[in-house]
Amino acid sequence: MSGTVVQTKNHRVQSVRHLTESTFVVRFDRNGIEFEPGQYVSVGLTGDINMREYSVYSPADADYLEILVKEVEEGHVSRRLKRLTEGDELEVDGPFGFFLIEEEDVGRQVVFIATGTGISPFHCFAGSLKGLDYTLLHGVRTQDERYEHGWFDPHRVITCLSRDPEAVGTLAATESGARYASGRVTDYLRSNPVDPDSLCYLCGNCDMIYEAFDILKDHGVPPEQLFAEVYF
Ligand SMILES: Cc1cc2nc3c(=O)[nH]c(=O)nc-3n(C[C@H](O)[C@H](O)[C@H](O)COP(=O)(O)OP(=O)(O)OC[C@H]3O[C@@H](n4cnc5c(N)ncnc54)[C@H](O)[C@@H]3O)c2cc1C
Repeated sequence: MSGTVVQTKNHRVQSVRHLTESTFVVRFDRNGIEFEPGQYVSVGLTGDINMREYSVYSPADADYLEILVKEVEEGHVSRRLKRLTEGDELEVDGPFGFFLIEEEDVGRQVVFIATGTGISPFHCFAGSLKGLDYTLLHGVRTQDERYEHGWFDPHRVITCLSRDPEAVGTLAATESGARYASGRVTDYLRSNPVDPDSLCYLCGNCDMIYEAFDILKDHGVPPEQLFAEVYF
């Protein structure tokens, strides 16, 4: 009798880039994994049975894979990932998931709505799909959580700072192009309705996603134009 065996491969860690006290990017050997932008992989430490899902952060044509991880207090896997160093090994399975932009939709207006590390698949989309007409709405608590925003077109980024109201004016005055707002992404969406023809991609925690879905539907975005990846 034969059961289904999940095949994972060992991947060598190339580097760990610490962006804040708790958030970091792990880069590891790709080992032939092919994925569509927006998909995720399942990652664990070699020899540890626990695996967790992480969206691919790096662009599809990079010869490595990257994931953007927030350390969860008391979390089993994320705390261990934070302690990785070059040369350590990871088990990686995948890719998985259907959080995708279809080829025929690449020319359409797309709104990316993220909280925290939910920015990860959008980093991958923007780096992989040329000519994407996107606006990124990123909800963070404080300005240091603007994970590698410099990498996006600043004119397409709106950062909502929920616990750093003083930073809003300072950042807007010192940075060209990028826009800032006080409050949560859902506050911003309520007072700044998106074009109902847009495709809306939401990623992050489920509370934000449920609330944003209701707002977008109330503003006339049809449900079939709403796509979500729930992290927790
Ligand atoms: C499809 C998918 C893609 C994901 N992609 C990413 C990603 O790109 N980056 C990333 O950091 N995480 C991502 N996650 C979450 C990730 O899989 C883990 O749940 C997270 O790293 C915690 O794992 P852990 O073993 O450290 O915690 P566990 O020991 O599993 O404890 C989990 C507890 O932490 C909570 N939790 C999970 N994530 C968070 C968080 N970010 N903030 C606060 N509490 C949290 C859970 O609700 C639960 O209560 C994704 C989840 C899914 C389902």
